[in-house]
Amino acid sequence: MAPRRLLAALALLLSLALAPAAQGSAKLPAKPVAAPEIAAAFAAAQRHWGAVPCGGKVRIGVQRPQGAGVDPAADAWVTFGTPLGANHLAAPASSYTNCVIAFGRRRWPSSQSLREDWNLFCATMVHEVGHLLGHAHDAAHGSVMTAVFTDASPVPQSCRTGKPARASRTARRR
Ligand SMILES: [Zn+2]
Repeated sequence: MAPRRLLAALALLLSLALAPAAQGSAKLPAKPVAAPEIAAAFAAAQRHWGAVPCGGKVRIGVQRPQGAGVDPAADAWVTFGTPLGANHLAAPASSYTNCVIAFGRRRWPSSQSLREDWNLFCATMVHEVGHLLGHAHDAAHGSVMTAVFTDASPVPQSCRTGKPARASRTARRR
């Protein structure tokens, strides 16, 4: 069982729901989570990019992949409206509205799972905030905008230094 968990931790699929099929998914995630890990990761993402996405109005939650345009295997995805249509990265990021970042409940079922998986959870937040700032996928190894994380190389410094206190205590168990 341990090797399977390790594999799951390394293969993280990040999905940008594609226009025009995503209209049903740009709604509030079913279960918004007020975990401190989410606020800390969102702060780390803004430090990484040096910018605030969507004028600071981003709804963040944990839910099952659902709605047209979202890969059912996705671990995280983002939806937003633009003058050019849903999730259109060619539109200026300053025009994005109804910004939603969703994390797959299968991978992150609890607040504890956010702590235990902090580095990749935080890198995923940085990735999704990157989309909300207009960044497309980048296949370069180690880029936080790669579509699939296969190792820890995309984890930004802002995540490595931005772990909330409770996460540090948990990590000491190892
Ligand atoms: Zn992506």
